[in-house]
Amino acid sequence: MADGIVIVGLDGVVRFSNPAAQHLFGRSAGELQGTHLGYPVVAGESFEIEIVRPDGAAVGAELRVVDLEWDGVPAHLVSLRDVTDRKRADERASQLEEERLARAEAEAANRTKSEFLAMMSHELRTPLNAVIGYAELLELGIPGALTEEQVTQVSRILTSARHLLGLVNEVLDLARIDAGRLAVERSASPASLAIDAAVAVAQPMAEARGVSVEVTRDGLARAVYDGDESRVRQILVNLLSNAIKFTEPGGRVVVQAGVAHEAPPEARLTGTGPWVYLRVEDNGIGIPSDRLAAIFDPFVQVDASHTRPKDGSGLGLTISRRLARLMNGDVSVRSEAGRGSAFTLWLPAAPVGGHDTMTQSSEDVRGETRLHGVADAGEALLRELGAVISAFVARLRAERIIPSADSLRFSQLADHAATYLADLAAVLIAAEESRGQPTSLVSGASEIQRLMAERHGARRARLGWSRETLAREWRILREEVERAVRGHTASIPPDGLSEALTLIARFMSQAEDVSARALLRAGRDTEMGEPEARLSGTTRFPTPDS
Ligand code: ADP
Repeated sequence: MADGIVIVGLDGVVRFSNPAAQHLFGRSAGELQGTHLGYPVVAGESFEIEIVRPDGAAVGAELRVVDLEWDGVPAHLVSLRDVTDRKRADERASQLEEERLARAEAEAANRTKSEFLAMMSHELRTPLNAVIGYAELLELGIPGALTEEQVTQVSRILTSARHLLGLVNEVLDLARIDAGRLAVERSASPASLAIDAAVAVAQPMAEARGVSVEVTRDGLARAVYDGDESRVRQILVNLLSNAIKFTEPGGRVVVQAGVAHEAPPEARLTGTGPWVYLRVEDNGIGIPSDRLAAIFDPFVQVDASHTRPKDGSGLGLTISRRLARLMNGDVSVRSEAGRGSAFTLWLPAAPVGGHDTMTQSSEDVRGETRLHGVADAGEALLRELGAVISAFVARLRAERIIPSADSLRFSQLADHAATYLADLAAVLIAAEESRGQPTSLVSGASEIQRLMAERHGARRARLGWSRETLAREWRILREEVERAVRGHTASIPPDGLSEALTLIARFMSQAEDVSARALLRAGRDTEMGEPEARLSGTTRFPTPDS
């Protein structure tokens, strides 16, 4: 028998044990016989116990008791089922749930921080603009002529206030990116447009410093990227002003663009390419190799004493890289101390033929309204979770999707679907809150869904389910989720509802694929692994799930 069986007298002393029980206790029949069982034995009750074997290993077992007669004397029959695996899985699921909650809390804290920063930045900008405005009035002599000394003082006020305003703007940008509140448009744009605009902005600074700025026109015409023109311009202005700032007078800055089919290892790019690159190269002071990675961190400057008089916050590159990554691109750097630096902005190339900017941006606007209500759908799903799981399990049984469906326990059939769906709901809520921008919460949550789906596939494989049965199961779960969400149509805007249903279908079909792969893999592993497992004896006492 797979279950351990122990016969215990009314005095609690063991009279008989089967091999499965001896294995569970890690003791021989002789060792068990005549000893006190050590657990309360009440007929009709079932509970979980932990057995500690002589070698110190702990095993979880479900204990059930029935009364019987043994050798003509009243006794108890105690059956013991190994639930170690199930307990481990439950513990893992609750650990996952705790991790999810911790992540959600951290995200919420981060959002609060970013919202605070964004608000503070607004609060700072308004008075700063007034300071700058009035100082400009004075500088222009509008209220009356200034003395030479006053002109110098007003110009110092202006320099400091403008520096502070630049800093506040950068902090605001960074806070917006962190909070997932910065939307980037995606449209086909020629690189030459952003380059010419950025060079025009940087030119006066270059002239003042005696540095030349040249644009290489070769290959420029073919460089059409898929991204947000104004953000690309912002990144280029930043790279150009750095190049000018960190190049001695008489030096040279070259801007070029082109198409690359392979991304270099130093750029973190997802996707298959091709890529458009926009490069700003200088023959300035360069960056020591051990500082190259750090310059993308907030507030990092290679040499504070050296750069302080040159102005700057140490935020420009951080923002540039984050903006680039929001557009599925990156900013990479190659540099050599004393010789110069080359900063490259990588962006996905626009599809051949390009698409029209207007359509794309109006689609984006529609995207915002479409998302409105998706969070409500997520909330509805959370509220209905218990009902969805019950209906799902009832249907698995009623539709007998596998012959043994109604002999399986509720928990075996439900198999953590509740945790999976709770995450799905969290993603819907986060999707709306982040205005469709991918946030780490969304990717973290979908990571949890992937892990759960993988585990689910492997567990179904152990129950001997086929790919078809798994597909039917996912279909039933999806239908029950849809039914629950549709039950709340009154409180969900129609656009949000249909967008939520689309997202649910997409997430669940991804999860189904993941679990199907795990199912097939586990099936193969079992076939290949069984003889060895049998030799080592590890499969002698299958868990209830197998
Ligand atoms: P900021 O320029 O405001 O200090 P950034 O984030 O733009 O901040 O740059 C961070 C640091 O990286 C700079 O302070 C500088 O030390 C280094 N750096 C950036 N661009 C260059 C460059 N073209 N040449 C040399 N050093 C550079």
